[in-house]
Amino acid sequence: MKISTFVVSALLIGAIGSKLAVAGESEVNLYSYRQPFLIQPMLEAFTKETGIKVNVVYAKKGMLERLKAEGENSPADAVLTADIGRLNDMVEAGVLQPVQSDALERNIPAQYRHPDGLWFGLTTRARVIFASQERVGTEEVVTYEDLADPKLKGRVCTRSGKHVYMVSLIASVIANDGEDKAEQWLRGVKANLARKPQGNDRAQAKAIYEGICDVAVANTYYMGKMATNEDKPEQKAWAESVRIVFPNQDDRGTHVNVSGAAVTRSAGNRENAIKLLEFLSDDFAQELYAEQNFEYPVKAGVPLNPLVASWGTFKADTINLADVAKNRAAASKMVDRVGYDQATGS
Ligand code: FE
Repeated sequence: MKISTFVVSALLIGAIGSKLAVAGESEVNLYSYRQPFLIQPMLEAFTKETGIKVNVVYAKKGMLERLKAEGENSPADAVLTADIGRLNDMVEAGVLQPVQSDALERNIPAQYRHPDGLWFGLTTRARVIFASQERVGTEEVVTYEDLADPKLKGRVCTRSGKHVYMVSLIASVIANDGEDKAEQWLRGVKANLARKPQGNDRAQAKAIYEGICDVAVANTYYMGKMATNEDKPEQKAWAESVRIVFPNQDDRGTHVNVSGAAVTRSAGNRENAIKLLEFLSDDFAQELYAEQNFEYPVKAGVPLNPLVASWGTFKADTINLADVAKNRAAASKMVDRVGYDQATGS
């Protein structure tokens, strides 16, 4: 158990390990991988509207280990996290419980929630291709399959194939093409790498800016975060050096992942947790997600951040993310089998 890696809010010190609030009291306990700058304003609005107090533990890692260790005694009623990979790991560990809610079903399209209500996507992000403005023609790279085309030899950068974002993307390729074809593809991408997989998504844009590679794979919101980064203004140049390509517009559509929420199996404040999820799927919170974090709202009709809107509309892969998640274990093994992270670049 990695409790030491948890950032425990002052509110909770001394209360960890016991029930923080019992059913009937107007409270809800939340474990969040999503950052305070994003979540806090939503929670304040929720409390104002409902009178339900939200106690939050913000974490950077170790949430699943902690939920497993706490078991039925976990004070957590709900969790907030990003990526289907992390949500699916919680499903498989048995730490979540199903929820049925008309509001959640109305607000969230079916492919972005678990068929049995074990988790709910609250925002989407597309895993797109970043292409050099200068060195990649508009029709040169239009599909994920192009990343494996020999024409891109020595021109591709990605982060580690084992990162949750990459595993989910590879799992979506397996879901669409089957394992054999997906492995052939992954070997092709590896053969095209300009360097050993490294860094985060922003580091791939930086590598394009520096001329190390011409195309990369990254989540859309990083484009917004780089383009508006006043603390690290050098990132604006990274963003300006690339354009977003939404892959596979003529066939299955672009791979989209979610940030999401779920109700824990141990939830002592189940009804309040459901109310919180419903609030997060509704207009006020959806607009904040879109505005502040450059993500796509799951709820229809919620306005996009104007910068995000400027990237254009796109067709998303409509496969249910629970079906993508089923292929994650195979994807992770495939990354090892092809030695993706051992690539030395060409
Ligand atoms: Fe991210």
